[in-house]
Amino acid sequence: MAKRDGDRCVWCGCSFSDENPSTLDHLIPVGWGGRNYFENTVLACEPCNHRRGCSSALFFLYLCAEEGLVSNKETIKRQLALASERMKKAPLAEQKKARQKMLDPHRLLRAGFQYSGNCHV
Ligand SMILES: [Zn+2]
Repeated sequence: MAKRDGDRCVWCGCSFSDENPSTLDHLIPVGWGGRNYFENTVLACEPCNHRRGCSSALFFLYLCAEEGLVSNKETIKRQLALASERMKKAPLAEQKKARQKMLDPHRLLRAGFQYSGNCHV
């Protein structure tokens, strides 16, 4: 993971350390049907992971940009596209749930700004 994403938080760009450990953040949130797939996880610092909660990855990316944070956009977008591909091979029931939450990254990009983020919908 660290090799792929670097040793920094994909959202705020802070470096990981003993005091600031990395956490696994799900690009397609678990509450949307996202799973622990390698493709669906990125390394994020605890505060970012917590702050993002279950909001859309692209919505959170937008929030970070608004705050002047330098996010690892390339990794986020690449992994989100891969995670979407991976989800298409998942069991239908799982896909259905995720599809309802706008699985396609391009649709997410347009819709993400309105999404209020609730894990348990
Ligand atoms: Zn962070």
